[in-house]
Amino acid sequence: MRYSESFIYTLKEEQKEASIVSHDLLLRGGFISKLASGIYNYLPLGLRVIRKVSNIVREEMNRAGAQEILMANIQPAQLWIESKRWNDYGSELLRIKDRGERDFVFGPTHEEVVTDIVRRFIKSYRDLPINLYQIQTKFRDEIRPRFGLMRAREFIMKDAYSFDADQDGLDISYNKMREAYYNIFSRCGLKVRSVQADSGSIGGRDSEEFMVLSSTGEDEIVTCDSCRFSANMEKAESITMDDAGSEMDLKKVATPGKQTIKDVCEYLNSDDKFSAKALLYKNEKDEFFCFLVEGDDELNETKAARVTGSVELIKLNDEEIRASGLHKGYIGPVNFPNKNIKIICDERLRNRNSLVVGANEEGYHYVGAKLHRDFEPDLMADIRSVKENEICPECRKGVLKKTRGIEVGHIFKLGSKYSESMHALFLDRNGKPKPFLMGCYGIGIGRTMQAAVEQNNDKNGIIWPISIAPFEVELISLDTRSEEIKRYCDNLYTTMLKRDMDVLYDDRDERAGVKFNDADLIGIPIRIIVGKKNFVNNQVELSLRQNNSRQLVNKDDIVENVKELINELYSEIDKGDKI
Ligand code: ATP
Ligand code: MG
Repeated sequence: MRYSESFIYTLKEEQKEASIVSHDLLLRGGFISKLASGIYNYLPLGLRVIRKVSNIVREEMNRAGAQEILMANIQPAQLWIESKRWNDYGSELLRIKDRGERDFVFGPTHEEVVTDIVRRFIKSYRDLPINLYQIQTKFRDEIRPRFGLMRAREFIMKDAYSFDADQDGLDISYNKMREAYYNIFSRCGLKVRSVQADSGSIGGRDSEEFMVLSSTGEDEIVTCDSCRFSANMEKAESITMDDAGSEMDLKKVATPGKQTIKDVCEYLNSDDKFSAKALLYKNEKDEFFCFLVEGDDELNETKAARVTGSVELIKLNDEEIRASGLHKGYIGPVNFPNKNIKIICDERLRNRNSLVVGANEEGYHYVGAKLHRDFEPDLMADIRSVKENEICPECRKGVLKKTRGIEVGHIFKLGSKYSESMHALFLDRNGKPKPFLMGCYGIGIGRTMQAAVEQNNDKNGIIWPISIAPFEVELISLDTRSEEIKRYCDNLYTTMLKRDMDVLYDDRDERAGVKFNDADLIGIPIRIIVGKKNFVNNQVELSLRQNNSRQLVNKDDIVENVKELINELYSEIDKGDKI
């Protein structure tokens, strides 16, 4: 593409709306433009990257035996009512009505539609396994759209769905996708790590996320420093402690003005871990919960939502707390005054012989409270977040370390969740009807693109891995007024195109500084610079964006040299780290 004829508009100023570097660089480089909160247009450079990522995904999915389809974006509510997600999905689901007042949704994901397709056509185990995928625009009305394409409302996803006759088949399908995912991300030049994950509202049990490690990632991950265990914080299990403490009688004590558990424990000269704090929440069904966790622990809202069957948990405000007959800062499970609020107690508190808890009376706490003797929760469950340096739940030897990551892909074993509720059945070997065993596998195409920028940039701009760069080579003419240089560059450009090389030709009548700044910002990996000074010696400069290396090459050998460099950059990616 000739720059002078292209729709590429770079911006000088830092973009105020961008709080992470990749978002700023994609906006400034003219890759994307914002239309509304969480809704972006892909401009020519951005679309080229999207296409390259999609093609890698497509090749690897095809290679793994999946077949591409394209499902409708707009889905009838009826299917969501069948799967029960019409009520369960929450406010991320964009619901729309047609002119006849019939309900539809704009697909945030396609389990219902694909299950409907498969149940229409597949009747026998002989037609299994099958894996169908698509690359398509989704809409999720995210509560906090941010970071550009990372957490958008409208975004492009690859979603694949496998259907098997039995558990062994599902395991095989899942493992094939797992391998395909490693290939995809390493071909995109990304360092990823897979972690155990929570399945969220998609459902199912086994699930793994593919994380690009990055300090700006929204996900917190824990990894063991001694075994291979790594998990999303939302999922990482806690191990229980047998540090019981000594048993005491229950006693009410005055704790005037001491509202936080820290202050109370300090005042009573007691260790935080022998106290329980109470946190009040409600869910989308207006069910109320009091979660009890150790004084120095944090409630993990994802775990808490999972054990209470909630989609969204919202903290009660002061007024709601008062209206429930409770006193903020003095809430506790002993003599709990409100029967409509379920008490959910963290497993860690199970072995404690004596706890400091709120006395449900302004200015008072209990000391010596003991589970089952003094209070009875509705449920005991793992609802706390694990902490750094805690013992690993898997090997029980190493300790956990925290890092952050960007989730670019997610694979799940769904089992029969959708096939059962939607009566998607096939006849097994013995002629008996059985629900399909399903898996589903997602990759955020835009998020992957932006994660690559987050992982590969410097103060001047993007450093694209060659496999997903908008162009592989940028030809920069520094002297557009010299006839001789112009003739050489025009010729070189057409020769490279004929040899199927992917070239952006900066033929603009602009100063060298402007061209170099734009080239750095846009981040094309290989650069050919044609300027008067070297040209009189029959030489042109060849440089790499990733390390600024420069070499002078005879102007007639340039195509071969560039070809070699392209191959070298691709083989570096192939050797990339595979964790
Ligand atoms: P998250 O926890 O980040 O919201 P999710 O678990 O809801 O992700 P999935 O339903 O597993 O996401 O979707 C599959 C993939 O789609 C994700 O791994 C991610 O790459 C991408 N994705 C999900 N939500 C968004 C979004 N709001 N913007 C961009 N990409 C997204
Ligand atoms: Mg989500």
